[in-house]
Amino acid sequence: MPKIAVFPGSFDPITIGHTDIVERSLPLFDSIIIGVGNNSQKKYLFDTETRTRWIEKIFAHEKKVSVQAFSGLTVEFCKNVNANFILRGLRSAADFEYESLIAQANLSMSGIETIFMLSKPEYSAISSTVIRDIVRNNGDASKFLPAAISKEINKK
Ligand code: ADP
Repeated sequence: MPKIAVFPGSFDPITIGHTDIVERSLPLFDSIIIGVGNNSQKKYLFDTETRTRWIEKIFAHEKKVSVQAFSGLTVEFCKNVNANFILRGLRSAADFEYESLIAQANLSMSGIETIFMLSKPEYSAISSTVIRDIVRNNGDASKFLPAAISKEINKK
């Protein structure tokens, strides 16, 4: 059975912390589907089409990585794309507290295991929330953004 992982998130926007998690996880999986959450209750800074397009651009040359927007439960999305793993990144103990509850619920609902990849120390303070603040205030967030998309984001 191929090892297929879904890496779900808001990616509002995707950061170098996220891309590092994907790149370091590539040896573990046959393919990684980056699932871009489209939750009607959530207010995003960047629309789903834009968040998805940016990720497609970043990973255009990586055959193992694909991108799909999804709404609803992550485990349902996993079933639809035949994924047997969920991939999540951990930056801190706070991330662990939050993520472990979700991972346990997902496992008992679906049997799908969540695999955690620790962030590198130099990326552990990077969050999409901070980047959105910088962008809203016309600052330069390019240090935290993948090179392929930083110009476009900083123009907004
Ligand atoms: P969500 O809204 O689902 O938390 P995010 O886009 O904020 O979506 O995060 C997606 C995943 O990436 C989560 O597992 C999160 O912990 C992880 N992540 C976010 N920022 C980093 C980072 N700097 N280093 C490692 N993992 C990260």
